[in-house]
Parts: sequence; structure tokens; C-alpha cells
Amino acid sequence: MFFKLSAKIQQTIDQSKYMNKHSKVIIIGAGIAGLHAARKLHQQGISVRVLEATDRIGGRIRAFSGLSERPIELGAEEIHGTNSIWFELLEQSNISLINGDNLDNYVYTQNQLIREDLVNDKTLKILDYLPQLIELYEGKDISLQQFLEQRQLSPLAMSLANAYHANESGSSLDRIGIKSLQKVDQKWSSGEDNLVLESDSYAHVLQQRFKTILPYVQLQEAAIIVDYTNQKISVTSNNDQTYTCEKVILTVPITVLQRKLITFTPNLPEEKEEAIQALKMDAGMKIILKFKEQFWPKNMGSLLGGELVPEYWSLQATHPQDHILVAFAMGSYAERLSALGEQAVTAVLEELDNILGDNLASTNFKESYIADWFKEPYIWGAYSYPSPYSERYRSWLEWPIDNRLFFAGEAVNLDGHYGTVHGAMETAQIAVDKILTEEN
Ligand SMILES: Cc1cc2nc3c(=O)[nH]c(=O)nc-3n(C[C@H](O)[C@H](O)[C@H](O)COP(=O)(O)OP(=O)(O)OC[C@H]3O[C@@H](n4cnc5c(N)ncnc54)[C@H](O)[C@@H]3O)c2cc1C
Repeated sequence: MFFKLSAKIQQTIDQSKYMNKHSKVIIIGAGIAGLHAARKLHQQGISVRVLEATDRIGGRIRAFSGLSERPIELGAEEIHGTNSIWFELLEQSNISLINGDNLDNYVYTQNQLIREDLVNDKTLKILDYLPQLIELYEGKDISLQQFLEQRQLSPLAMSLANAYHANESGSSLDRIGIKSLQKVDQKWSSGEDNLVLESDSYAHVLQQRFKTILPYVQLQEAAIIVDYTNQKISVTSNNDQTYTCEKVILTVPITVLQRKLITFTPNLPEEKEEAIQALKMDAGMKIILKFKEQFWPKNMGSLLGGELVPEYWSLQATHPQDHILVAFAMGSYAERLSALGEQAVTAVLEELDNILGDNLASTNFKESYIADWFKEPYIWGAYSYPSPYSERYRSWLEWPIDNRLFFAGEAVNLDGHYGTVHGAMETAQIAVDKILTEEN
């Protein structure tokens, strides 16, 4: 039921099996970073081949068509900011975007569901100026949780801090480093708007915008060995195929390198290995829940304050015909849900019954879909995040080896745009620029 390439595109991809096994650049991974790098190099007349381990392009961009006529995003969904390479690409394609932040947020507190702006809790005020407090922080890189515990916030304020500042950043309060968060926040330059596609899906945009590069993408071809001993680099796949090239751009998630699913000959330098192991990428879940009727407040965007799921949001703006809530959990919350397997749906319905009363969730429940990124082969998690002392390691990871082995993908972003689509594209652009500079 996942996004499948159209028959025409699939046919062109199959033909690529007969392509020459040597290309100037091999790109490992056909997520947004890999596709962007391939397209840019191809436009400059550089021969490329993209090896993708799975049977589809997109990586952490994935749409699901089973619950609604319009596909639902299981991975990337929002366009964070309008000052970005991804926003530009969508604008050039005349794709309509809408603001995802126009609806009201509701919170569950003291056995009641209340609009967030009506809650009477003085400690919530601290959250309004938390970004400034983080900005001014001078001290060790302690966890955001330790930092907030010194301020004696109410349980509700802690829960909202987790939803807004940790869950969104890819983990939970106890794992986000305040200094690291400060560093990435200071660098953020993409703008504050959060937009969503009005009627299209990310996966469809990829098919359209990267059409020219699809014939050079080899699906179901996982790189397992990269041998860069000689001038000519060889990349061997799990299908026992060996490809040669002059340069490699690696765009695989950091977890793939952490699990040593690719062997490098010679071994990667020590600093590179240290950076790979030091950066963190946690579990991440989206559970899509479809109901017979809308039983939550009419204009509800997000629901916060639950103990199991840090944030639920409704798809009212993008899927108005369906009654869909998305449970979004990262870090330790996602780990707990992931361990429950399919029982996670029952647990989430119980939490919603508890919050909204009268067994409304379980009696209205129709169908669900679990996107558990922690269990997704070749991804194994959600996205990298600012953990204590993490940020210097991104540059260690980014640094190319001999100008022949380049590292790209969201975890490599040095401009505070980690964990985003445009951040991944920016890293690909940097690798491409370096390759092109040498060419000219
Ligand atoms: C639940 C969730 C919600 C998100 N929400 C947003 C959002 O709202 N907005 C936003 O901007 N971003 C969001 N993101 C983050 C965004 O999706 C990622 O930052 C971005 O897509 C990463 O792109 P990438 O190219 O770096 O990596 P990936 O998309 O992971 O691509 C890497 C590719 O490498 C392939 N691969 C792995 N190992 C091998 C191998 N050995 N050989 C060949 N191929 C291999 C993988 O299969 C994959 O296709 C979200 C992510 C998740 C998981």
C-alpha cells in the first residue's frame, strides 16, 4: 500500500540495469539528499549512478494511500520556513502551500481538555520565553530536562516543553542538550512559518521534480562495501555487483553507519568514526488513526499533554473529508510505543478515551496505520537531534575524505537545519559544489 512508482517511471529505472558500471560519481541513498545531488551533477554533465537499498525513492519522505483518497505523509510533512532550497523548489513547481499553524492547540490538564490560551497555569509563561532562556544559557551542556527542573515547572508545562522543544527536535527532554539546542537555534535561518502542501504529496513532488534522474537510480541495490584504496573507487552491493567511480557521496542515515552496514576499505579515519558514534538519532513514530466522526473540538490543530503521546494533531486542514488524528512521538516516547507493536494502537485509543471521555475514540475508531521509523530497514530511526555536546561532531562527519568520499544527508547539516528536508538538500548542494569546483 506504500507509494509505488508509476509503471512508466519503473520501466525507465529497470533499463538502468544495463548502464555502464562506471560513472564519475556514485551516490549512495535515494532520499532527498541523494536525489538532489544526482540531479545537480547530472545537469552539469557529470555521469552519476544512485544506489538505493529499498524498492522506492524518497527515504524518510514517504506517503501512504490506504486511509484516505489523498496520501498521508508518514515522514516529512511540514515545510519549515520559506527561506530554503526546498521551499524554492516547491514555489518553482507552482505547488500550493497552506499554513499548518492556523488551528487552535488544546491541552489535557486536570482531567479536562482546554484551549491552550485559556489554561490558568503561571509556569506556562516560562515557555513563552524559553527560547530566550536557552539563548542566554551559559554552562555545561546538560539535558533540557535538567535545565527545566531547576525552574520548577508544573507537570503540564514540562509536558508542553517536551512536545514543542524536544519531540519536534527528534527526541525527548532528557536527551536534548541545552547548549547543542542553543547552537542549532542560533544558526537557524529558514524562517518560522510551518507550511504544508495543500493537495499534493511530497512523494509525488519527488517523482515530478526528479524525473530526469530516475533512470540513473538503481533500486534494491544496497551498498555494502566501499573500497577507496585506489584512485578508482569500487562500491559493491548486496547483489554482488561492483560499480566503479571517482567520487562517492554517502547520504545514508547516520544509523546505517553506526550499525556498520557499509564496510569501508581502508577503515574510516578515527575522527570520522567518533563523530558517527557520537551523533544521536532516536526512534520516531507516527500512528495514523481514522475515525467515523470528528469527536474532538471543531477547530483543534494539536492536542498536547498526554502521557503516552507528546502530540496528536488533526488532518482537518489537509484531509477535511476524513476524520484523522496523527499521534506523533519521538525519543523515549517512541521507544515505548514501538515496543508495544500493534498494541500501540489500543494504548493510544485508551489515552484518547481518557482525554476526550465517553469512550469516544474507541467507539468511533475505524482504521489505523503505524509508521515505526525505528523498525524501518535502512533508516532505523527518525532524525539526528542536538544531544549534549553533539554539534561539533556534525562538522567532523561532513568533512570529505581526500575530496573523493563525501558525506551528506540531514545529520551532516552544519547550519542548524538538521532533521529537515531542506537541511538534507543543503548538504547535498555543498558536496556537489565541492565536486564541481574541482572539475572546473
Ligand atoms: C516521522 C518524521 C517526520 C518528519 N517531519 C519532517 C517535517 O515535517 N519537515 C521536514 O523538513 N523534515 C521532516 N522530517 C525529516 C526529513 O524527512 C529528513 O530530514 C530527510 O528526509 C532526510 O533526507 P536524507 O536524504 O538525509 O535521508 P533519507 O531520506 O533517510 O535517505 C537515505 C536513503 O539511503 C538509503 N540507504 C540506506 N542504506 C543504504 C545502503 N547501504 N545502500 C543504498 N541505500 C541505502 C535509504 O533507504 C534512504 O532511501 C521527518 C522525518 C520523520 C522520520
